[in-house]
Amino acid sequence: MTVRDIIKRAFLVEIIKGMALTLKMMFTKPVTIQYPEERRRVYEGFRGRHAFVRDAVSGKEKCIGCMKCANICPAQCITIAKEKIENKLVVVKYDIEALRCIYCGYCVEVCPVCALVLTEEYEYSSTDKAALYFDKEKLLKNWDEFAAKQQSETYFNKFWRPDGVDSAKMPKSKREQGPVPTRPVLKPAEPAPVAAMPKETAQP
Ligand code: SF4
Ligand code: SF4
Repeated sequence: MTVRDIIKRAFLVEIIKGMALTLKMMFTKPVTIQYPEERRRVYEGFRGRHAFVRDAVSGKEKCIGCMKCANICPAQCITIAKEKIENKLVVVKYDIEALRCIYCGYCVEVCPVCALVLTEEYEYSSTDKAALYFDKEKLLKNWDEFAAKQQSETYFNKFWRPDGVDSAKMPKSKREQGPVPTRPVLKPAEPAPVAAMPKETAQP
């Protein structure tokens, strides 16, 4: 042990340094927050709970069952089933197993009709595995909950038109996709049927 070490020990230098640091931090702005009373701002492009965008006019999902999201998903956690109903292919099952998802966002990027979104919702942890298995109805409900929290009347997800991707190579539907309404849009009222005029009867 050197003389320097002996002096350090005798005068408790390290303890004094530690106490000085503690005192300094007491008057410094904290880097932590008091969650859940305080919440961090969620930045654009945050990848949270999955949702199916509910079409503001039809009230239904926009998915056309092209399978692109299921094919690109590296975690293979998207299951889609289609059936031919009245000569039309209908998506009868669309499930996302969120527990297996790695939140890469590829499914959102690849969707040609911007039907899918990773919302900014991050408070959905659960001890129930079934609660993190999103079927079509749950995905639409996720959208409703997310949309209801939006201050703005419209929403556009960063991954619908990702930076660095040549938009000329995107499908027309994706190129033309604008912000989607976050509130239901009433269908234009059907024009009232014109009442048939009674035939004029010949006067004697
Ligand atoms: S975010 Fe990635 S891992 Fe998750 S469902 Fe989409 S493609 Fe699959
Ligand atoms: S990529 Fe979009 S339209 Fe195609 S199956 Fe997936 S969610 Fe539906």
